[in-house]
Amino acid sequence: MEDGTRFGRGFTLWFTGLSGAGKTTIAEIVEKELRRRIGMVEVLDGDIVRTNLSKGLGFSREDRDTNVLRIGFVANLLTRNGVGVIVSAISPFKEVRDRVRRDIGDDFIEIFVDAPLAVCAERDVKGLYKKAFAGEILQFTGVSDPYEPPSAPELHIKTAEETPQESARRVTAKLEELGYLGRVEEPSRV
Ligand code: ADP
Repeated sequence: MEDGTRFGRGFTLWFTGLSGAGKTTIAEIVEKELRRRIGMVEVLDGDIVRTNLSKGLGFSREDRDTNVLRIGFVANLLTRNGVGVIVSAISPFKEVRDRVRRDIGDDFIEIFVDAPLAVCAERDVKGLYKKAFAGEILQFTGVSDPYEPPSAPELHIKTAEETPQESARRVTAKLEELGYLGRVEEPSRV
C-alpha cells in the first residue's frame, strides 16, 4: 500500500490482551494524537461498554463473545463512515476476533498488547489479580479463563519492554505505514 492511499478512510485499531497489559494506557495516548491529526475519532473501551451496551452480560464464553460482537458491530458502522475507531477490550477468543476482522475487512488493524501474566499481576492496576488468585473472582482471563493470542496481528507490542509513549508511537507509525495517516516530518537526528 502506497503512503497516503488510505488517507481519510475509517479504520479500527483493535487492542487485545490481558487485563493490565496496557490497552487503555496506549489507547489514551493514541486517541490524543489522532484527535490532533485526523477529524473523527471514537473509543470503545470494553469496561465502559459493559456498563451500557453490554450491561448485564457476564464472563461466560457466550457472553464474552456477544460483548465482542457488539463492539465489533459498532466499530464497523463507525469505520464505514470514516471514523478512526480505537477498541480496547481483552477479547480473549480468536474465533470471534477473526469474525470481526472479516466483517470490517482491510480496515481492521489488530494490535496484540502483550505482557507476561506475571507482569500484569505485578502491576495489578485494578486490584483484580489479587482477587482472582485468591479465588474471589472466577473466570478471570489469564488466571482461570483462557486467553488466545492473535496468530497474525498487524502489530505485536511488548509493554514490559518499552514505555507507553514508545508503544503508542509504534501504533501511529503503523497507521502511517498503512496510509491512514500522513507522515510527520521526523526532527533531524544528530
Ligand atoms: P489494560 O487496559 O490492558 O487492562 P491498563 O492500560 O489499564 O491495562 O494498565 C497498564 C499498566 O501498565 C499501566 O499502569 C501502565 O502505566 C503500565 N505500562 C508500562 N509500560 C507500558 C506500555 N509500554 N504500554 C502500556 N502500558 C504500560
